[in-house]
Amino acid sequence: MGESPFWGPDFDQLEVEDPEIAGILLSELDRARGGLQLIASENFTSPAVLAALGSTLSNKYAEGYPGKRYYGGCAEVDKAEIIGIERAKQLFGAEHANLQPHSGASANLAAYGAFVKPGETVLAMSLPHGGHLTHGSKVNFSGKWFEVVSYGVREDTETIDYDEVRTIALQHRPRLIICGATAYPRLIDFAAFRQIADEVGAILMVDAAHFIGLVAGKAIPSPVPYADVVTFTTHKVLRGPRGGMVLCKAEHAAAIDKAVFPMMQGGPLMHAVAAKAVALKEAMSPDYQAYAAQVIRNAQALSAELAAQGMRPVSGGTDTHLALIDLRGVGVTGADAEVRCDAARITLNKNAIPYDPQPPTVGSGIRVGTPSVTTQGMGEPEMAVIGRLIGTAVTDPASAAAVADEVTELVSRFPAYAQTPVGV
Ligand SMILES: *Cc1c(COP(=O)(O)O)cnc(C)c1O
Repeated sequence: MGESPFWGPDFDQLEVEDPEIAGILLSELDRARGGLQLIASENFTSPAVLAALGSTLSNKYAEGYPGKRYYGGCAEVDKAEIIGIERAKQLFGAEHANLQPHSGASANLAAYGAFVKPGETVLAMSLPHGGHLTHGSKVNFSGKWFEVVSYGVREDTETIDYDEVRTIALQHRPRLIICGATAYPRLIDFAAFRQIADEVGAILMVDAAHFIGLVAGKAIPSPVPYADVVTFTTHKVLRGPRGGMVLCKAEHAAAIDKAVFPMMQGGPLMHAVAAKAVALKEAMSPDYQAYAAQVIRNAQALSAELAAQGMRPVSGGTDTHLALIDLRGVGVTGADAEVRCDAARITLNKNAIPYDPQPPTVGSGIRVGTPSVTTQGMGEPEMAVIGRLIGTAVTDPASAAAVADEVTELVSRFPAYAQTPVGV
């Protein structure tokens, strides 16, 4: 091995210099490995991605874009960003890519910045029905600065009602229409949204944060041909570093680039940009495509087992990596279920279900996702076991220790970071 350009493996140094933080890093690794990680927006990123994140590229100021920087010494980071941009364009068939957004929320802020002025109207999915904070929450910039009107899901089908979307769009004439959600288990009809956007002369933005990894793995249809702009996070199913990205049509490239920098951000996180390039390369592999397909089969198997346990999957099931589960049938709130699962080493989150009678802090449901357990190599047989364990943990709090033992046994057969570069 040659000289290492990154300091991730030099864990001994951190333990000497800052044992307090070093100890936390080890405990967090133990926590993540020691239980079931079912948060739908999380994953285990690869050691190669972590290596890029732990590199000296973190030191480099590179405001601007490749070839047009405000600082000297950018020749090497330019190469990394150009490779990343080319990979993103190739993988997603996109005309333009911007890898600099620090997060999904920053990517969305940039898209708003490129296309709407404060006070203009935006149409997006309502938060209680699965939309994201950046789609119009009153405590977020989106709700504070824009006139946000929202659509939801039908009460009977619990899926998006495209006729309703069209009716609201015709009534409010939004400048920007957003589709994409944080807790919607079904495929979205991007062609229908495109048609509505064209009819009212709106820009169509797809916030693909949750499902872009499934698109990358060719497991579900892509929004790229339909959308003016696609924003997403790189750390969910896509399995890259924590961060954001924007894809758009060539005609919007200049507006998006200016909105990301200098409108919304300063210097890019070049270590994260390089790590995004690494993740994009990984996502181009046949292995990743097999992974993406398995993530969906696992979510369907988990959802089916939970249904068998008397816990109703919202909309009847899932086409993606996540399921939203209505717990009213077993008489347990989402908040209680989250705490009970946590005590059994199963990490998931409470979630509102559409038309939820409970306040959001309590919620009638849970959201479960399979990106992490699938990265660990688990398949449908393990999902059936996990579904049973969730059923027991949720309905019988006294079983927590027994369930935790079974969880420990299961994860020991599918270790996360079997060969970790950190702390071993
Ligand atoms: C996760 C998510 C985001 C925000 O990503 P952050 O990186 O947490 O800022 C935005 N939109 C949707 C739909 C998401 O699921």
